[in-house]
Amino acid sequence: MANLRHLERNSAALRSLFDRPVIVYTDLDGTLLGPGGSVFCDATGSPTLEPARALLDALNAGLSVVPVSGRNKLQLLNDVRILGLRDYIAEAGCLIVHDRLDRQWRVVGDFPETDGTICDAIVAAGADELLFRAFPGRIEYHTPWTGQRECSLLLRGNVDLAEAQEALAPVELPLKLIDNGIIRPKNHTLVGVETVHAYHLLPAASSKPAAVREDLALRSLTSSRAVAIGDSLSDLEIAGEVGAFFLVANALADEAIAEAAASLDNVFVTGGMMGLGWAEAVGAVLNTTN
Ligand SMILES: [Mg+2]
Repeated sequence: MANLRHLERNSAALRSLFDRPVIVYTDLDGTLLGPGGSVFCDATGSPTLEPARALLDALNAGLSVVPVSGRNKLQLLNDVRILGLRDYIAEAGCLIVHDRLDRQWRVVGDFPETDGTICDAIVAAGADELLFRAFPGRIEYHTPWTGQRECSLLLRGNVDLAEAQEALAPVELPLKLIDNGIIRPKNHTLVGVETVHAYHLLPAASSKPAAVREDLALRSLTSSRAVAIGDSLSDLEIAGEVGAFFLVANALADEAIAEAAASLDNVFVTGGMMGLGWAEAVGAVLNTTN
């Protein structure tokens, strides 16, 4: 394995990467939230206050905490209300929402205008069926989380992304399939799949980093005022848009992520998994600004 940079609480390397940060972009599932989507449990499912406490520390220090998630905008509205937050990026970067739905932006690049939702257009073009045919038993809809989406289809399984892109070639819409991390669905009908990933089928121009870039522009902030925390390959792409990126330790279960992270010089791996790693990252950021 190449050289991963491990997070230390008093890190000169970390301090040199950003100005006083004002915004923390964070993934939710497998990052701030533990198994079952709870902020009050660690990676083993044991109760802990540490992630919640770190969230309060961040808010008390004046940091904006902005979830960047594959979840849809109504799910995230409820999440941010419970967590005491206001803004978020939904559907893996397709939608920016400020002030709990008061202001919204789609980040879909050159995707053609449609009468219905972008999801309707993707299904009408047969893109989902092409994937199901190319990978029988290896990819399916991520039920029951697939409803009320605007711009991206939510799938699960285990497929090669380059082969998936080839399978999508007959579709005339600009589309791509992205990996949003390892999940452990209670039920699925996949065949012979041990490690299940969440995937998003979305406009080719949409991505978490593109949405973060757009969000920073909307706030007239430079990348050095932001940090990000995540656990998937699609989260890791945000590293190029922020001063420092923190990968929670559970992300290393995927060797591809470890390899990608080792080649980026502003990525730090936390010692703790999921919410405990999140708390560690926020603690290190606050420590550099005190
Ligand atoms: Mg995640």
